[in-house]
Amino acid sequence: MQGCISVINSGSSSIKFSVYDHVETQELRFVFGGQVEGIGVAPRFKARANHGEILAEKTWDHGPDVNHESLMGYLIGWIRENRQQLNLELTGVGHRVVHGGSAYSSPVKVDDAVLRRLEKYIPLAPLHQPHNLGPIRSVMKLGADIPQVACFDTAFHRTNPPLSQIFALPRRYTDEGIRRYGFHGLSYEYISRRLQVLDSKVAAGRVVVAHLGSGASMCALQGGRSIASTMGFSAMDGIPMGTRPGNLDPGVVLYLMQEKGTTPDELADLFYKRSGLLGISGVSNDMRILLESSDPQAEEAIGVFVYRIQRELGSLAAALGGLDALVFTAGVGENSPAIRARVCEGAQWLGLQLDPAANDQNLLKISTPESQVSIWVIPTNEELMIATHTRNVLLGAQE
Ligand code: ADP
Repeated sequence: MQGCISVINSGSSSIKFSVYDHVETQELRFVFGGQVEGIGVAPRFKARANHGEILAEKTWDHGPDVNHESLMGYLIGWIRENRQQLNLELTGVGHRVVHGGSAYSSPVKVDDAVLRRLEKYIPLAPLHQPHNLGPIRSVMKLGADIPQVACFDTAFHRTNPPLSQIFALPRRYTDEGIRRYGFHGLSYEYISRRLQVLDSKVAAGRVVVAHLGSGASMCALQGGRSIASTMGFSAMDGIPMGTRPGNLDPGVVLYLMQEKGTTPDELADLFYKRSGLLGISGVSNDMRILLESSDPQAEEAIGVFVYRIQRELGSLAAALGGLDALVFTAGVGENSPAIRARVCEGAQWLGLQLDPAANDQNLLKISTPESQVSIWVIPTNEELMIATHTRNVLLGAQE
């Protein structure tokens, strides 16, 4: 039997999973994966093999028994059946966990004590953390003593210098954990390692990575380590996202509460689900739909998105003391030449020169040979990063 690692990425409305086999080649190899989407509305399951062919599909009617826990139970059973058919033995499960607080600067093997500590961070990420921890409990219950590893979105940013982590609030708030953490760390870590392979000279320099997906943020890398990022205490800060506003004057929050009587629950709904590209456009949170729309508000939403990215790029370049490379990644960053072109057009002052033909073809390097700052399109792979960490933690390997 060969060993395999399963990766679980569980969110508020979906549970994604992938299985990697790693014994034969010593390289992690994706075997199959899939997701349950639409949890809480009309859950649907789809799984694919490594060449993309569909292995299974299933839907459920919404009902009280169809929840994260029962669907996770279904997935554990489905994964078990399918790996047994391929003669794969599960050696560990890696989980994406959004918040590792200030305690965890690297992935950790989970036991009861670790789980209790991670539960303490639920108030720091109330919409994500409970869904990340639920599957760990499910595996503990159903998978007996399979080792589990928690990989954090915050961990990669623990190298940020103190000045970049501190809010200008009375110190006791900082001491109790109200500080900038930064997120999307697994994506940035993956990109940092890829860049090291692709161009070690660039990787050793000053790099800004723009992770532009439905959640979006940017990170400044110096010598491959994070020194600053646009997301802060929560995954709402920074640039506008599909449905989240990005940075917002705290005066707006006060005004909504004091003058409009908006409740904390209503604010959470407003900031997590109704703001960002969707809020500005009134059309969609999906960049593809906005780019195709003739509605002037859709164009304005794109305009704000690009404008905020350009401003944050300047800010991160200032934190780095200059810029050697810009990397685009995630759904929009990897697939939208139009957005990349607009971002780069307003960033020429930093020494960026886009090669339009390379950009249109989504090539790996999209800057001209003369450009002082190289520009890259590097697909991210958070799942592979989690699988890699999980294997290394289980082997006790130094990373
Ligand atoms: P997440 O993992 O945060 O859910 P993704 O990284 O998958 O998000 O990115 C989703 C976003 O990427 C969506 O807004 C989607 O419209 C956008 N996207 C995907 N393909 C394209 C494309 N060809 N052009 C523009 N936007 C795209």
